[in-house]
Amino acid sequence: MRQLNKKLRKEIQRFNLEELIEKIMYNSFSKDSKNRREPFENWFDKKEKLIPNLICECNGQYGETKIDWRRHGNSSPFRNFRDFLSERDDFRNVKDCEIFDSRINTLGTYRRMQSPGEITLYIDNIQVFFWSIICEMICHKKYIFTREKIEELAKLCILKTLYHELFHHFIDVQSRFMKDFHLDNYIDEALAVACSRHMVGFEAQGNQAFVSDFLELAYSYKLPGYCDWIEYKSDEQFLLKLSEYITILKPLSILGQEVTPITESMLYSIFENPNIDFRIQT
Ligand SMILES: [Zn+2]
Repeated sequence: MRQLNKKLRKEIQRFNLEELIEKIMYNSFSKDSKNRREPFENWFDKKEKLIPNLICECNGQYGETKIDWRRHGNSSPFRNFRDFLSERDDFRNVKDCEIFDSRINTLGTYRRMQSPGEITLYIDNIQVFFWSIICEMICHKKYIFTREKIEELAKLCILKTLYHELFHHFIDVQSRFMKDFHLDNYIDEALAVACSRHMVGFEAQGNQAFVSDFLELAYSYKLPGYCDWIEYKSDEQFLLKLSEYITILKPLSILGQEVTPITESMLYSIFENPNIDFRIQT
């Protein structure tokens, strides 16, 4: 698999990635009175290094954020990234297959195409998810983060959810081609996580330890379906399973045609031309 071309980046610009990074890193929301938030100030020293004592509390080997999120305007009821990767009882509407990832402890959702499809990112949850991973890395692995590294990881954290939801859009498009397509939520989620991990891997600059340690935590899913992504960890496993799942290429496969390159092209062509509305929600 390859990195996406500039066209998708243009689509992502509709989402305004830089602004989202600022929201997560600095809590910089609009200044009107309704959405006013106290920004994170002085979290970096003069050498542009993150000051861990301001943010993290290390209990034993694991870390937690010691931030009073509500005082900072964040309304997420969650406090740790594991809350988003593990099962909870309070599903919003798990049977509603018009909306993917519609759990309360979600980072994003995808609503199937009614005219366009709709991707929503839950920015307060993503902010808690992000900073709690950073604290875990500081406490557990003694990382020292610069502003630049934090920015890079915040970007990957947003793209993680964006690509996951884009994959649901791809499956939504496929389901319009095939009358007898059987949507399997478990396979869908496993492949969405795998797809996101592959795409985020391309976006990461170089192969640095702080990135791979961050991603290892960010993708440590325990949720049914989602956690099966590790079966599709390699490009080959992912594309083979995806080719089998979407079935549209089955007649060609029977004739001896290698279908994974076609599947890959189809995936990218949808990613580069998504029929999507993007929304941000706190
Ligand atoms: Zn999903």
